Amino acid sequence: MSCGTAMLSDEHLAKRSKSQFQAMKNKEKISTNSSHQAMIDRIGKRITGVAQVDLPGTEWEFVVFQKSEPNAFAMPGGKVGVNSGLIELAGGNEDEVAAVIGHEIAHVAFRHSNKRMTQAMGIALGGVILNTAMRNKSSTDRLLAGGVYGAGTTVGMALPFSRSQEREADHRGLFYSAMAGYDPRAAVSFWKKMRGRKKRKMPQFLSTHPNPGNRIEFLESNMDHAYGLYVEAKNARGETPNP
Ligand SMILES: [Zn+2]
Repeated sequence: MSCGTAMLSDEHLAKRSKSQFQAMKNKEKISTNSSHQAMIDRIGKRITGVAQVDLPGTEWEFVVFQKSEPNAFAMPGGKVGVNSGLIELAGGNEDEVAAVIGHEIAHVAFRHSNKRMTQAMGIALGGVILNTAMRNKSSTDRLLAGGVYGAGTTVGMALPFSRSQEREADHRGLFYSAMAGYDPRAAVSFWKKMRGRKKRKMPQFLSTHPNPGNRIEFLESNMDHAYGLYVEAKNARGETPNP
């Protein structure tokens, strides 16, 4: 049911992600807006609480980068970055930011980066690498470290996801955020804002997360179910759901 095959070592990708994320934190400006940081920590805690059944034992880390581009990403191994520009595009609406983080974490749960990299390596080497990868993962790791996927390739950020992977992430992400008690209708309002922006300039986020086509219609077709889960989650939290 899930798209593609993941053949790289998850351990390798997680390790590589961690060091790349660390390098990013050293190089990029980290937001000093403590309410933004508190917001994504809160969202992160609630969504990973739901997603942990799919990603047990992950050490999650959420960082707000001071960047105007409305972008967000989640790397294998649980490293999540959200740009301040995305929180601003959402107008500080926590449900909308949660919709994006749910989508990103769904990509990690489906191991989409691993599948994309496996596929790209297969194309690059005419499929030879896939046989090698099956026989000996450490040789894959050596190749990854040294060549086909060299230091310039950031795990989970450099390769665009496929449209079917986007659909999977939209679907599961919608339910993650709803089950975490975030209004799932915010996914639709966020993507409408993104669509409005796209007319002016292609945001970085959309270059790695291509629109699977009628994304909003797809989300809306799952909304009754997601809304029901959201109401249950809110009631369980002793909170009042949005009508
Ligand atoms: Zn995506």
